[in-house]
Amino acid sequence: MMNAMKDARTDLKGMPLPELEEFFRSRGKERYRTRQVSRWLYRKFAEEFSTMTDLSRDFREEMETMCRISSPPAEKVELSLDGTEKVLFRLEDGEGVESVLIPEKSRRTLCVSTQAGCALSCVFCATGASGFRRNMTSAEIIHQVCFAGRRLAERGERLTNVVFMGMGEPLENVPEVSRAIDILLSQYGFGLAGKRVTVSTAGIIPAMRDLADRYPVSFAVSLNAASEEVRSRLMPVNRRYPLRDLIAAMRGIPLRNGCKVTAEYVLLSGVNDTPADARALARLLSGARIKVNLIPVNPHDQGDFRPPSPASEERFRDILVAGGVQTITRERRGADIRAACGQLRGAPAGPRERGKSPLRAIASSKNP
Ligand code: SAH
Repeated sequence: MMNAMKDARTDLKGMPLPELEEFFRSRGKERYRTRQVSRWLYRKFAEEFSTMTDLSRDFREEMETMCRISSPPAEKVELSLDGTEKVLFRLEDGEGVESVLIPEKSRRTLCVSTQAGCALSCVFCATGASGFRRNMTSAEIIHQVCFAGRRLAERGERLTNVVFMGMGEPLENVPEVSRAIDILLSQYGFGLAGKRVTVSTAGIIPAMRDLADRYPVSFAVSLNAASEEVRSRLMPVNRRYPLRDLIAAMRGIPLRNGCKVTAEYVLLSGVNDTPADARALARLLSGARIKVNLIPVNPHDQGDFRPPSPASEERFRDILVAGGVQTITRERRGADIRAACGQLRGAPAGPRERGKSPLRAIASSKNP
């Protein structure tokens, strides 16, 4: 069914609003159609034109023949004991990607994927272990946000933050990620403030500068080491974009008042967690508007890294703080369902397992 014939109708999901406007204009439609339809797409999370009840029947039928709203099915929804939810989407070509919804006090944060697989092969990350499959389209990226928005709306809640920290390297997929950001920030899209949208990168310097020039989004950079030598061992991308240049680029990102760039640092016992590492990191960041997010490594089948003991984690943090660096330890969320940082893999397409998850029925029905 899925691979029989590709749907030739224009997919409206994932189209930046100026493009949607042009789409309607070139077909002789009224200007207000853009606002009307985008409201249905991104505020009410409509998946079918038939549900857009304030549009005339004629217009809806015409739309139906010209356009579609892609909505890849959620094959599996898993709920962690801590309230974190992981969703596995099956894309039209069979690739699997995951997103994670993290509730925390008044925040509802969605962590989205931007690639099926990843080419960077960071040694501690499960996504990299299975290699790169392909870039995701803006429609596929934004669909994850629509799906989460819809689930939250059913509980009377709203999405507050989006982080590009799921599977893949967002800055190796800049065109589609830009289109998605456009929709997230647009007043007629999700209308999120730039500080509530965070792009996390392993350090693709030119792409980071380019995006920072075009969008007022926040940046998180996965440093994970305080020396070239250790970083190159952990993250092969460091040979292309060395730590030294990366820190300079982070210092150069334009920031609004009171905002900082985040440096992510995955703590790996015996690898990058010594007091000397902490002092080196504090030196690298001294005087910069950069805050550190410490992430004790989350184990997965692909590697045998271990998180530091609570005592050495605390010592590491204390050294940074003493060096004047704002530091927080990222709370581990959703580890029981393999939804924590570095654990996303996206199950390969295969024979459907039946009845494994009690939430499957909810997840796969069209209007849950
Ligand atoms: N490619 C992007 C976004 C995805 S990774 C990037 O590198 O930033 C998101 C974060 O998870 C990164 O900071 C990465 O260093 C961290 N991470 C990867 N594997 C991890 C693991 N096993 N445990 C804890 N954090 C991990």
